[in-house]
Amino acid sequence: MNMPAKPTAGERPPAGKAAGPLSLQRLLVVVLIALAAVGFYQLWTARVERALLVAETQLIDSQIALKATLFAATAQLDLLRVGLEQALDDPAPRPLPSAHDWLLPVPGRDAFSGPTPLLSPGVPATHVTLGAPLPASGGERARELAAAATQAPLFAAVKNNLGNASWVYYYSLNRLLVVHPYEPGSISWSDALLARDTFVNASPARNPGRGYYWSNVYADSAGKGLMCSVVNPVYDRAGRFRGVVGFDFTVDSLIGYLTGEELAIGTPFIVNKNGQLLAHPTLVKSSDSRVSTLEDALPAPLRPAANRLLEIHPGGFAAIGDAYVTALDLGTAPWRVLFVVDKRRLGLSVLGDMRFELAGMGLLLLALFFFLRNVRLTEELARLAVTDPLTGLANRRRFMDALHGEIGRSRRSGRPFSLLMLDIDHFKHVNDTYGHNLGDKAIMALAETLAAGIREIDIAGRLGGEEFGVILADTGLAGALVAAERLRQAVAAVNIAAGDGAAFRITVSIGAAEQGGEGGSPEELMHRADTALYASKNSGRNRVTANNGQ
Ligand code: GH3
Ligand code: MG
Ligand code: MG
Repeated sequence: MNMPAKPTAGERPPAGKAAGPLSLQRLLVVVLIALAAVGFYQLWTARVERALLVAETQLIDSQIALKATLFAATAQLDLLRVGLEQALDDPAPRPLPSAHDWLLPVPGRDAFSGPTPLLSPGVPATHVTLGAPLPASGGERARELAAAATQAPLFAAVKNNLGNASWVYYYSLNRLLVVHPYEPGSISWSDALLARDTFVNASPARNPGRGYYWSNVYADSAGKGLMCSVVNPVYDRAGRFRGVVGFDFTVDSLIGYLTGEELAIGTPFIVNKNGQLLAHPTLVKSSDSRVSTLEDALPAPLRPAANRLLEIHPGGFAAIGDAYVTALDLGTAPWRVLFVVDKRRLGLSVLGDMRFELAGMGLLLLALFFFLRNVRLTEELARLAVTDPLTGLANRRRFMDALHGEIGRSRRSGRPFSLLMLDIDHFKHVNDTYGHNLGDKAIMALAETLAAGIREIDIAGRLGGEEFGVILADTGLAGALVAAERLRQAVAAVNIAAGDGAAFRITVSIGAAEQGGEGGSPEELMHRADTALYASKNSGRNRVTANNGQ
């Protein structure tokens, strides 16, 4: 008979150790938690992506609105330029009052200044100033002066159309400056105008394509706040560069294009290609006297990447360091909208928005935890009800049930099985000699030896006190005797430590009985095995006796 030394079906593990179904439940919990975590992470990532997408959609709306505004502004400039270019070459200009009547000498300077005569009722005057003597009639300068003066209503209209333009102007190589609106005494010609970056960058050497030139941001000397200029060169019919038309505007209204709660996840701002800020929720204010830069707008870790931000491909978010960044170009103006989102802040705020999902998932897991704990406790109770607390073996009730089951099985299959009854020899003496605690220890040692010495299909149980039973499934009497003898020897070989290096051994007497294919009750079978056990006791103990009598 093969008797592997491993735990058996008859032996249940001591309380607290997980059995098969329990570890399955534990696995289920782990899998569920892992699934919940993966699901939650995916939901969170999707929400982060959605927040970015929603912000990007809002940014594209802003970009469209800004482009339209900037396009409209340059269209106004075109209107002014074309009007002037036509007037410069007009063979029959509108008659004007003599310049001597409305251009007055500027005291102490070789200059003249004055308001254009009202060309139509209700149109405010435009300021004309000349950094040279009054021109003789019929010459180029006289024609330019006349052209500029006749275009005064157009200057007024353009200023009116450009909401935040402070000045609309034309100034030329002929030292003529036309500015709308007229502010008496405030403006006269200065040669410094011809050295301004707007003029230099609009003139042919720098601007052969005759495009618009957008200036850097500057603080207005008259205190109107942070401003920017855009100019366009004016050429006459002969193709000669004559001057520039342009307007100066305050940048403070640009931020209005970058508002919206969808953008609250980050910071939107407008920057020009030199890294100057034109709009920023906090850094650019109309009252500023200092121009802020891209570096000022970036969180410290992103500052080294400032130049890269001026060049990253527009559209979509790029992950740069701890931030998501997107750029949108504005076409007409050499500016771009940048939007910087702190990854961590966005992640946390999305998590905050998911608190209800989190709470729900937590409650679900809690419910699952309690449910499984309940299942475990119920199973544990059921197990304890049929387990001997000292040894962890089947108790008498479970053993009798098993015996009952085995008799039924044997009856159906016609195959025999055997029952062993065991009783410790002279156990009273063990108790008397070593004490009740060591007696208990001996009982536990015996239980372990039995459990280790039978097959998985066999069942060992403690029937009470120091009496044990073993059901040897599918085993005839001959096989049972071999198994019983092996168990007897195994028990007799176990040393039970008694403290201070001392040890003792115990022996068992065993009775064996076989249950044939048909037969009686568990009690009858037990009685027969008991009879054999008493025979072992009576014939000297520490031995195995078979009950052959049917
Ligand atoms: P015998 O060889 O004839 O079986 O002699 P014995 O001394 O073992 O006699 P018996 O089987 O009648 O004695 C049973 C003793 O076992 C009585 C009791 O003191 C002791 N006993 C029963 N259950 C326990 C237990 O759970 N722990 C301990 N320590 N002793 C027990
Ligand atoms: Mg006894
Ligand atoms: Mg005994």
